[in-house]
Amino acid sequence: MAWFNGNAKAPPWTVLTRWPALWRVVAARGQPMTTQPVAAAAGEPKRYEARFYSRAAWDAVHCNLCPHQCAIAPSRAGNCGVRYNRDGKLYTELYNRVGHLQVVRSSLLPLFHLHPSKPWLQVGMKGCNMRCTFCDTFRWSQLGAARAMPLTVDQLIGRALSTSCIGISFGVTEPAVGHEFVSDVFKGARNVGLRTHLATNGEWTEEPFQEILPLVDAITFGIKGFDADWMMQVCGGHLQVVVANVATAMAMDTHVEVAYLLADSRATWREELTAYCNWLDSLERYVPTTLIRMVPSFMWKGAPTRQQSMSEALHYLQSRLPFVYNLGMGDMPGDTRCTSCGRVMIRRIEDTTIVDTECAEGVCPSCGADLPFVV
Ligand code: SF4
Ligand SMILES: [Zn+2]
Repeated sequence: MAWFNGNAKAPPWTVLTRWPALWRVVAARGQPMTTQPVAAAAGEPKRYEARFYSRAAWDAVHCNLCPHQCAIAPSRAGNCGVRYNRDGKLYTELYNRVGHLQVVRSSLLPLFHLHPSKPWLQVGMKGCNMRCTFCDTFRWSQLGAARAMPLTVDQLIGRALSTSCIGISFGVTEPAVGHEFVSDVFKGARNVGLRTHLATNGEWTEEPFQEILPLVDAITFGIKGFDADWMMQVCGGHLQVVVANVATAMAMDTHVEVAYLLADSRATWREELTAYCNWLDSLERYVPTTLIRMVPSFMWKGAPTRQQSMSEALHYLQSRLPFVYNLGMGDMPGDTRCTSCGRVMIRRIEDTTIVDTECAEGVCPSCGADLPFVV
């Protein structure tokens, strides 16, 4: 199994990002340097300049927000489709624009160990820096079809307060590509006592990721399989970057969970689960893991993950990890038990989450063990 071997074959759209010198050659020839046309920016009332970029020759720009490191010619957009070059400046299409807004229970984020019974305001934008061929939110993430509604930072925070949400969660599409807006929302949210959560694919470069971490209470990393080749070829992602960012988030005391997507269409999925558990064993803290069933969408022609594979994977994960949940196997995502005595502390039945009131003090009332969640 290819694991951190660095030989993953890149899909065509990432060729310029894998060969950093090539974009300069292309620029010298005056050719477009990325394949994405600029999303409609002409009618926008106001442009918001992006951060994390540098200027290059001939009005090109170099975006440094994520590992794709796009070189973007004038009047073109980066691979994510939402950061575009106008006259040698990089702009973000996502500031004050929201495509999805919904009050949801935390298990749907998914986030199981931070305020598990409280509602969150889930926010989605559009665009993504990965190209998962099975993406189930592809209309927003890949096609840019989301009808973005204007919503300022203050309005968004006001919406979370008025709906009695415990906090704001950016997900559905990839929040990394909207770094500027997400950061400002999280700053404001913190000021009024709201909690903050990211559901991300983990594809951030070091500087922007470390900058946003102090504003984030919890992160759910979406891992699409534990094979670097698979991640690159099917998703256009970098597994080693995601793994490094998990370690960085934990080092900065951010609560971390993982949403592990199980696709059983390739023979190595069992070995990958073993490698995933071995990796978690090497980390200093526990990481609640949610197993997610892959259901075909977008360009994926294969079958959905079999229920039998889900059961087998769930059983294996439960034998290796203290906290395992699932989405896609009926309405029982899983209870949370004390790891010392087995007492059920959080019971989840369909869309209802019941927290044992005796656990509110942060210790198990039966055995006195520390509880690994915040109610
Ligand atoms: S954030 Fe977008 S434009 Fe910037 S490097 Fe990543 S894919 Fe390219
Ligand atoms: Zn106990």
